[in-house]
Amino acid sequence: MQFRDLKKQYDALKQEIDAGIAGVIESSQFISGGKVREFEELIAKSVGRKYCVTCANGTDALEMVLRTWGIGKNDAVFVPSFTFMSTAEVVSLVGAVPFFVDIDPETFNMDAASLESTIELALKQGQYTPKAVIPVDLFGLPADFEKIQKVADKYNLLVLEDGAQGFGGSISGKKACSFGNASTTSFFPAKPLGCYGDGGAIFTDSESDMLMLRSLCVHGKGKEKYENIRIGRNSRLDSLQAAILIPKLKAFWDYELQAVNHVAEKYSSLLKDYVVTPAVKPGFVSSWAQYTIVCADKEQRTALQQFLKAAGIPSMVYYPLGLHRQQAFADCPCRDRALPVTEKMTERVLSLPMHPYLSDDEIENISEQVKIFMKGISK
Ligand SMILES: *Cc1c(COP(=O)(O)O)cnc(C)c1O
Repeated sequence: MQFRDLKKQYDALKQEIDAGIAGVIESSQFISGGKVREFEELIAKSVGRKYCVTCANGTDALEMVLRTWGIGKNDAVFVPSFTFMSTAEVVSLVGAVPFFVDIDPETFNMDAASLESTIELALKQGQYTPKAVIPVDLFGLPADFEKIQKVADKYNLLVLEDGAQGFGGSISGKKACSFGNASTTSFFPAKPLGCYGDGGAIFTDSESDMLMLRSLCVHGKGKEKYENIRIGRNSRLDSLQAAILIPKLKAFWDYELQAVNHVAEKYSSLLKDYVVTPAVKPGFVSSWAQYTIVCADKEQRTALQQFLKAAGIPSMVYYPLGLHRQQAFADCPCRDRALPVTEKMTERVLSLPMHPYLSDDEIENISEQVKIFMKGISK
């Protein structure tokens, strides 16, 4: 059994994907071909943003938004600690300082009250100017943008939605990658919408931000070719990846999103009396990048993971350490501040196999093994 079965998805979409790849090779437009623009228009429309600028990966996408907004030295950017490295790494990459925020214990997403107390802390320290917040749609569930936006407005912060895991989610019908001043996603193969290599995208409604981002992606280009008006970089989505993503985007909206929600519902109905199952608040839809349960403590999690492994079931720990405790951020000003929910979750969470092609039999088998393990402990 695979944790995320990419081969099954390829088997289902083989004809369209193979035809797309062959078409690009036939045209020999490998970089910035028509397929890239076609995909950008399709995906922007599907999330409800005016513009999509694709790039090489989800990390570049985040970093280029911060550069577009002029965030750098002496600026504070607020990020959750319970997330993948990129969310905070990009803050340091532009020369600003990440301030780590705690999470809500039920959704694993940024806690608006902790955001406010962290901003107050930064203001009190007085060394860095609060500029932006990067809420993450962790495990596929959109962050609580209504509450976060209120805090952001109060302190005049820009909001950058890190939708790398969130593509496909929504709040009251408004789609992930349409929240805040700009949003980003990643097409890393294991993300909700993945390509066959690296890829990423930025979504914005601002024409001036879009133009700046297009310039940054291609060496800071101006209007003419070989006119460079700023320092940029080389960060583009390949035409081959765009050709792969076009049929995958269609399958995602046609049935994959529904399929992962079926998997999650089935897991939760089978497991809710045995472990803490993930919460989705009213109005929220998750795209289930991960299905994550919470164990009683670290020992129980380790034992459950080993038990599942012996039964041929892969599981993963996302994430074993809060970013505020990572060596890479040893110099950060709020390094030693306790983030109790993050610390608790890093010891207890366990993600089970999750993808749109998981069969009912497989879900039942996995759930049965979890139940057997939990019953064994309670005796
Ligand atoms: C994967 C991920 C990224 C980075 O995406 P890449 O395409 O791998 O660079 C950023 N943020 C989060 C929350 C992620 O999970």
